[in-house]
Amino acid sequence: MHDGWFAEDTTHGPVKVDTFDPSRPHEGKVLGIVQAHADDMPLCSGGLVAKLVAEGYKAFIIQTTNDEKCGAGSVADAIKSNEEDVEALAKSLDIEDVFNLGYRNHRQDENAIIEQRCRLIFLFRHLRVDTVMSFHPWAKWEENPDHYITGYAVESACWIAGAARSFPEQVQAGLAPHGVKDKYYWVMRPGSPYNHVTDISPFLDKKIESMATNKSQGPAGSHGRRLKERLANQGLQLPELGDDDEMADRQYIRLFGLEENKRMGEPYGLEYAEYHYYFPPGGTFPWMATGERVEEYVKVHAVKI
Ligand SMILES: [Zn+2]
Repeated sequence: MHDGWFAEDTTHGPVKVDTFDPSRPHEGKVLGIVQAHADDMPLCSGGLVAKLVAEGYKAFIIQTTNDEKCGAGSVADAIKSNEEDVEALAKSLDIEDVFNLGYRNHRQDENAIIEQRCRLIFLFRHLRVDTVMSFHPWAKWEENPDHYITGYAVESACWIAGAARSFPEQVQAGLAPHGVKDKYYWVMRPGSPYNHVTDISPFLDKKIESMATNKSQGPAGSHGRRLKERLANQGLQLPELGDDDEMADRQYIRLFGLEENKRMGEPYGLEYAEYHYYFPPGGTFPWMATGERVEEYVKVHAVKI
């Protein structure tokens, strides 16, 4: 049993509790975050992304849909405001860049999966992505097609990106094959499997800031300023909401938007946590013994012909 691994063994492996390591153990590594909608990553992983960036990762967002169904005004207004929100999200977590694939919101299953996989492989090779973060393609109860189609395309793209004979024209054009090594899958719905618990308490302000960038949709964004305005119209105020609108949005999240993170922390003695399903390099269940183990066996059992 390694340090930080709980003895409790689940059907999906032992649970690891992960805490911040200030020695920058991930210096030089690249994190590829593949989300369908502006609110996916900040809700599920705002704390872990802040932690991984502080530990040395360079992070990139790949956004698969155009978010056209969520937000005020016309369809065009929604696309624009969500695009701006994702830019602000990247800034809030010190993320290097955003790539918008632009598939239509809630209709991602109308696009050829091979095209989606090809575009992801291109970006994984171009960015040299070591670690991916996205939806769990096999988690239960997922009802949003954008989520399970994105997860499905990501899962296959991760290893096929390392195969030189797949999309060989990319390799001829100068992109070296590059497989993704490890993966963090989101826990989006109750009962989704997890084996990794992140202590996000040191990064709570960053998580709140990232959630507050999502003004166009979701349970975060601009609820604080709306509550402040409603109370003011009744001649009331909540002093905790502060003086300005942005402060009100963040304080609203601090007061009402982290209930799940508190609940996740409780069994592990943490104030706030995020759950993920983590696939380590080499996979969760290594079927084949290592080369070292084979050599040990040969040394003991090999006989002269
Ligand atoms: Zn979503």
